[in-house]
Amino acid sequence: MTNFRFKALETALSRTIPEVKMPSTKISDYFGINVFDHKKLKDYLSAEAFKTVLSSTNDGEPIPRETAEQIASAMKSWAMSKGATHYTHWFQPLTGSTAEKHDAFFEPTPDGAIERFSGDALAQQEPDASSFPSGGIRNTFEARGYTAWDPSSPAFIMGRTLCIPTVFVSYTGEALDYKAPLLKALNVLDKAAVDVCHYFDKSIEKVNASLGIEQEYFLVDLALFNARPDLYMTGRTLFGHMSAKGQQLEDHYFGSIPERVYAYMQDMETEALCLGIPLKTRHNEVAPSQFECAPIYEEINLAIDHNQLLMDLMDRVAKRHNFKVLLHEKPYAGLNGSGKHNNWSLITNTGKNLLSPGKTPKNNLMFLTFFVNTIKAVFEHADLLRASIASVNNDHRLGANEAPPAIISIFLGTQLNDVLDEIETSRISKKIKDDSMLWQGIPKIPQILQDNTDRNRTSPFAFTGNKFELRAVGSSANSADPMTILNLIVADQLKKFKSDVDKLIRKGEKKDVALLTVIKRYIKESKSIRFEGNGYSEDWEKEAAARGLNNFKTTPKALDVLISEKTQRLFDETGVYNRREAHARHEILLESFFKKLQIEARVIGELVNNTIIPAAINYQSKLVENVRGLKELGFDKEMYAAQMDVIGRIGEHVNFIKTNVEELINERKRANVMEDPRTRAIAYDEKVKTHFAPIRYHVDKLEQLIDDALWPLPKFRELLFIK
Ligand code: ADP
Ligand code: MG
Repeated sequence: MTNFRFKALETALSRTIPEVKMPSTKISDYFGINVFDHKKLKDYLSAEAFKTVLSSTNDGEPIPRETAEQIASAMKSWAMSKGATHYTHWFQPLTGSTAEKHDAFFEPTPDGAIERFSGDALAQQEPDASSFPSGGIRNTFEARGYTAWDPSSPAFIMGRTLCIPTVFVSYTGEALDYKAPLLKALNVLDKAAVDVCHYFDKSIEKVNASLGIEQEYFLVDLALFNARPDLYMTGRTLFGHMSAKGQQLEDHYFGSIPERVYAYMQDMETEALCLGIPLKTRHNEVAPSQFECAPIYEEINLAIDHNQLLMDLMDRVAKRHNFKVLLHEKPYAGLNGSGKHNNWSLITNTGKNLLSPGKTPKNNLMFLTFFVNTIKAVFEHADLLRASIASVNNDHRLGANEAPPAIISIFLGTQLNDVLDEIETSRISKKIKDDSMLWQGIPKIPQILQDNTDRNRTSPFAFTGNKFELRAVGSSANSADPMTILNLIVADQLKKFKSDVDKLIRKGEKKDVALLTVIKRYIKESKSIRFEGNGYSEDWEKEAAARGLNNFKTTPKALDVLISEKTQRLFDETGVYNRREAHARHEILLESFFKKLQIEARVIGELVNNTIIPAAINYQSKLVENVRGLKELGFDKEMYAAQMDVIGRIGEHVNFIKTNVEELINERKRANVMEDPRTRAIAYDEKVKTHFAPIRYHVDKLEQLIDDALWPLPKFRELLFIK
């Protein structure tokens, strides 16, 4: 093992940078060349068939069989012209990553082999998927799961395989993936938002959610990564003393990008751009070896597919550069973790961003409607939003002093805060009502908001000019989960809004007065969720508690809300999850939580017993040898007092670690026999995980005591600064 670290260091230090070839100097020359987009489809299909595809993409109309045949044949021709030999349905099971099962186009026939791809094969596949998590939905006796084509996300080529984005559902029609519920939620949102839009503009026919995902990640040399079993088994370092230099100088953020990393970024971006992922931004992040990339925002379903694809791609391309991408939310204790800011807004088919303040008072009433309803939705369902970002990894990050806390609150910026305060306290006077002077009752909203530049980075949910930004999503998460919830709660809120406004109109109130009256009421009701101060501070924790806002610090209890009566009513009304699905998801998330902790606990045990303690004893023996020698030579005690001190301290740390690892194992055993997943998850959280930090503390002390040449694991300074 000892040699392994130094071998890895040698390898890491002798890397050469692979040459990166760009297909062209102009990105527009190669953007999307590996995507079977509408433009290409149009070339292959009859005008009639193409129209069917368009309406299916826009309105979710099913595609008739003959058209599917035509599309399949077109896809096959195009894919084969690009060298593809296989196709796969590409889907997002609840494991968190993406899945694919490749089939060849090739088919033997009595007259010789041919390449075939039928409409049926395009529309549906039946992966033998009995080992994907289903939370009990798919018992093995009915193990069939189906993938079904999502025509709203275009097929693409990865390597030599044509990938077709699909949903993944059980034989009985229940969702086994992330995409199916998202599509349902988007549908509900579209209807609810269009209905509300019609108060202002009858010509609006569709509202799409849009999403831009900023993706943070760490890079580490592959050889060093492979010399750290904790990293490659769990995605994070379970031990490691912080290097002398960390992020305290703040010299990494937006700094110049190291050459080797730059080559990687270019390579990865080129592939992403060929796949139609519109990557636009790259920069260094706060921690050493931490980076970020961000695309231009897109329709939300596509943006999420693209982010899932991107994470996969980042990892594949990294291998060519002998890097490993760490998408874990907290790879290094003591440094910033990684998140995935979800920039979200609502855009109509007429091209209007509903969260962008307008020029005229009428437009502003429309803006206020969607703005205030979003705030109210988050206020009503803050716990559900919290649950949607909960994971064992994200528990390390939320509230860890550099990421938003686990308390959901909303930052608006001073100007908009003032606007809402003004509306709240203003009176919709009789005069205004009678003289149609309502517009004077709406405060002016400046089009360019100051706070657009001066953003409060400590807020989990912030308004940033013309969009809301959910910052609490973890870097490795599939954004579909939080985005399903966000769109769902906003949809539900808009429906309630419509019903509240219509009630007033039926009572004889003028439309605009009715709108403003309900907005005003919502502003008042949802006030406690708004917070402009420092979300990282302890004072905020206290104040939030006084305001009645929840603070679920860890996952097992944060997930309770998924099966609460209130949530179930929301799910029932919108039809996004049925009861079985909600319970299944709850169980899957709990299981994933304790299984990951179980793996971490095992790795801690193995590393401590087989790697750390032997290294410590090895060095201790050398010191004992040395002391014995000095004694023999007749030296006084003072001459080896330092050695004696270190010998003693090593012994103390080793003892502590040994006893605590045993205790950890016992707690694990106790937890493992608990039947109920929630009870087991809580036991893992409160009884098992609590041993990690004290063990780590003593291991890290040993790292500081022991001869560097004998220390077996690459150190933080090596992981973070060698590239
Ligand atoms: P930051 O300073 O937070 O990094 P950026 O201006 O770089 O902000 O934008 C972050 C992301 O927000 C990008 O992906 C961008 O395309 C996206 N974005 C911008 N406008 C919208 C919008 N109206 N809806 C959704 N996403 C948007
Ligand atoms: Mg941002």
